[in-house]
Amino acid sequence: MGLIPPPLRNDCFAMPHGAHWTPVNDALAHLRAKLQPICGAESIPVSEGAGRILAGPAIALRAHPPATNAAVDGYAFQGPIADGPHELPLVTGRSAAGAPFEGTVPTGYAIRILTGADVPAGTDTIILQEDITTNGQAIAFNGPLKLGSNARQAGEDIAKGQKIFAAQHKLAPYDLATLASAGVGRLNVRKRLRVGVLSTGDELIDPGAIARPGQIYDANRPMLCAAISRWGYEVQDLGIAPDNREKIREVLNSAALSCDVILTSGGASAGDEDHISALLENTGSFALWRIAMKPGRPLALGLWNNTPVFGLPGNPVAAAVCAMIFARPALGVLSGLGWLDPVSYQLPAAFSKTKKAGRQEYLRARLSNTGTVEIFGSEGSGRVSGLSWASGLVALPDAAITIEQGTPVTYIPFTEFGL
Ligand code: AMP
Ligand code: MG
Repeated sequence: MGLIPPPLRNDCFAMPHGAHWTPVNDALAHLRAKLQPICGAESIPVSEGAGRILAGPAIALRAHPPATNAAVDGYAFQGPIADGPHELPLVTGRSAAGAPFEGTVPTGYAIRILTGADVPAGTDTIILQEDITTNGQAIAFNGPLKLGSNARQAGEDIAKGQKIFAAQHKLAPYDLATLASAGVGRLNVRKRLRVGVLSTGDELIDPGAIARPGQIYDANRPMLCAAISRWGYEVQDLGIAPDNREKIREVLNSAALSCDVILTSGGASAGDEDHISALLENTGSFALWRIAMKPGRPLALGLWNNTPVFGLPGNPVAAAVCAMIFARPALGVLSGLGWLDPVSYQLPAAFSKTKKAGRQEYLRARLSNTGTVEIFGSEGSGRVSGLSWASGLVALPDAAITIEQGTPVTYIPFTEFGL
């Protein structure tokens, strides 16, 4: 607990030489192999555990239920009970939830019991109150009743010492109920991954600001910040940096102190104004991944003062797709959650298209009400609104293919990217 994992190696992003364009799957395999968790652990109360990632297994400190108890309001006695009419005298007292009967019920006697109450010594079987008649001294009812009827057995849900969840499990709200029931009060979880989000470009202004000619609104930062917070990480909004190397250097310097990982968008290629690449290049850890995919220009990767930087393309559609395909699983590993592969579905195309070999294509797509997959009218990566039109992506393989209406295609819903 509290140990901080070692930093990433300086060459973690270095791609083997030779390949000019890296296939998507090779790029993914590289990230998966070279990244490791970078968040330490901390202890938190169960009540704060939703969305957190376990740093070690969660072990039941107690059985659930801790003792055999009543599933109904009724009467407890020793079972099983044979077929036919029965009459049992009542002992004085009762067993209620939180107020168990302390004594032992003699064989042949019954006792009043309420839902959730421990089943008293000498009893093991319960009859519903609706199924008896009583004069206050005894109960009458008809058998048969199996041994253990209407009783919840001690430990039937969770055994003491049982591993409830393995390390890396991300806790859902209902998991907190399971942990609490098993007597767990505190959790050993990964510290929340702190992700900085920076937009770069002289042309960018904040959404809603008054735009001068040549200015456009920063579309990536609201999108990426929201995605990161949906993925359960802590967002640090680093704002917009101009196309000025010194300014970006300052932002990265301070961000590297307060963030575990930095996502940037824009300036990631190899042009004059591609300052993210230029800055990372001097760190000795820089790699410009030319990934054989559309949309997407190179991904700029590197370590800035030991803090991994993912330089996403500036174009919002490319930034979105690269965030879903590369950043999400990479952040999964860094956070301690592990690698995340989206589930995809083979569904018939509602479109036709011919594609050349050489790169994987991601098309903005949505399900039609007949179960086929439509694609957005334009493949232009400037068409941001196509992301909002879509409910997911169609992934087309590296190889050349001709798709006709009805040809099965790979569809990945946005929900599979946690969005
Ligand atoms: P860059 O990668 O910096 O060359 O940017 C590629 C394209 O994406 C250019 O048209 C930029 O204006 C645009 N762009 C870059 N960053 C953003 C952003 N945060 N929001 C909207 N468009 C952007
Ligand atoms: Mg730019």
